Order: sequence, then structure tokens, then C-alpha cells
Amino acid sequence: MNSGARTWAAHAKINLALHVTGRRDDGYHRIESLAVFTRFGDRVETELADSDTFSVSGRYASAVPLDDSNLVLRARDALRKEAGLQGTPPVAIRLEKNLPVAAGIGGGSSDAAAVLRGLIRIWNLDIDNAVLARIGLALGADVPMCLAAKPLIARGIGEELSMVPDFSSLGLVLVNPGTAVATADVFKALARRDNEGLPPLPRVLDFHGVRNWLEITRNDLEPAALAMQPAIGRALSQLTRAGAGFARMSGSGATCFGLFETGNVAKRAAAEIRGRQPDWFVAATRSLTSEADPHGQD
Ligand code: ATP
Repeated sequence: MNSGARTWAAHAKINLALHVTGRRDDGYHRIESLAVFTRFGDRVETELADSDTFSVSGRYASAVPLDDSNLVLRARDALRKEAGLQGTPPVAIRLEKNLPVAAGIGGGSSDAAAVLRGLIRIWNLDIDNAVLARIGLALGADVPMCLAAKPLIARGIGEELSMVPDFSSLGLVLVNPGTAVATADVFKALARRDNEGLPPLPRVLDFHGVRNWLEITRNDLEPAALAMQPAIGRALSQLTRAGAGFARMSGSGATCFGLFETGNVAKRAAAEIRGRQPDWFVAATRSLTSEADPHGQD
């Protein structure tokens, strides 16, 4: 068993398109979403220890709970319950919280996914992917897709996943104007829930192919979130003004993404927006490709 400290990446989830296609009897919404994951994200460090501990650092540390409601601890406990106490010795977990919270980019879900992947490795557990997906789904609808962390289409309530092969790395700028948005409130405020599903994907999934396809898709949560938080409109305007080839809100907001042809152009745009809005969260990053190994140790 490896007892040294190891760090695991918890990538931000970006819904490039998100169509709300219905609602189940239990109240969960049906969606169809093309999602990618970014290099930029939180980091989770795990290390075998004498007792279980948990600490949080980073820009958004004060926005997450430190008690058992944190998805990091819920993930640890769910995995331990599955595996049994034997073989799951105490572990120190340190979360570096770089992603804004309640921000539509799945930070908590991605932290949970990183903990599951990381603890499976340091505890040497033999848990197959179907069981892992079930544990993940019980923690949150977005956890299974964060476990995959590759370009994918999610259907159902987000748990039916189809990987999308040959997806290029996209230059992205993420912008959050600093307003937390509760996902449930946005879903509640939707004008309609029976929208059309996603159109077929283009053959070539590079910047141009993706941008043209995005023009014929939507984020069905965006109008409702915009009505609740007008700052989202200002975030979208800043991305467009800085030259984004396309700009849209991710998930239930308020984080918006801009699509840029190269990583360098994205970096310049991010610096420009930061100059105008020094208090906002602004990050230039790239999306992970279909071929990248998202789970490797950082
Ligand atoms: P989604 O798009 O999946 O709804 P989100 O990005 O909008 O996710 P999160 O940042 O995951 O939202 O936070 C959702 C809620 O989960 C917050 O109210 C927060 O208090 C709680 N939470 C628990 N653990 C974490 C964590 N590790 N990181 C972020 N939020 C957490």
C-alpha cells in the first residue's frame, strides 16, 4: 500500500450545451448535455494517516462546509461503506478549492469523483466501474460524468453517458461574476421543460466544428438564471467583448465560458477581463481531449 501524499485533479465540468427535455415523476429533470472537463480545477491530496482528517485551502475555501456534508467526506464515507472498514485505513484529505462554489461547473461533484478515484488507488480497492458509477450517482447526478472526465454526452438525469471520441482540446475562458446560484431554484423557474434534444454532433470536433454546432444548441437554464442574476449577462458581454468565438453559461450558472481558437488567445482575453473586473473569477484553461488520461496523479 502506498502511504505517501498523492494529489488528484478535480476538473471543472463545462456544459457546452444543455437541453432540458422533460421531467421524471420523482421531480428530477431529464437533460441532454455535451460536457467537457478543463485542466483548471480543484486539487485533492490524500495520504494514509493515524486518523481521518479533512482540511481546505484555496481561494474558495471559506465557501465550502467542513463538516460531513462536504462532498469530499460524503464520497470517502460512501466508498468505505461499500468496501467495509477493513482495508480502508484512516486517511488525511486536503482539498485545494480553486473553483467557485454553486457555480454551474460541478466543483463539488468533481471533488467527490477525485476522492473516489484517489481512495480506490490508495486503499487498493477492487471496485468495478458500474459499482463506482452507482456510488457516484448516489452522491449527485453529475458525479458519474465527473468520474469519466472526458468529452461526453450525458442524458437521463445526467447519468447515461456516451463518450465522444476525437474531441479536440478547446481554448476556454471561465468567468464568474461572484454570484452563487442554487441549481434547484433555476430548475424551478424554467418556463418549459419539454424542449428538443441535442442535434447530431458534427464530424470534426475542432474549434470551428464545435462553435458552429453550438450556434444551433442552447443552455435551456440560461434564460431563467439570467432573470435571477443579471450579472450573468455582464459576464457573457465581457467574454464577447474580449473576442470569444462563442460565449454561454455552464450548468445552472453563474459561471460562463468563452470559446477561443488557441490557448494563447484565451490567456490574453482572460487578462483583459481580469483588468476590467478584478474581483471576478476569471481563468484561462483548455479542455481535456477524448484521449487524455484525466485520472493520472497531478
Ligand atoms: P452543479 O452544476 O453540479 O449543480 P455547482 O458547481 O453549481 O454544481 P457546487 O460547487 O458543486 O455547485 O456546490 C453545490 C453545493 O454543494 C454548495 O451549496 C456547497 O455548499 C455544497 N458542497 C459540498 N461539498 C462541496 C465541495 N467539496 N465543493 C463545492 N461545494 C460543495
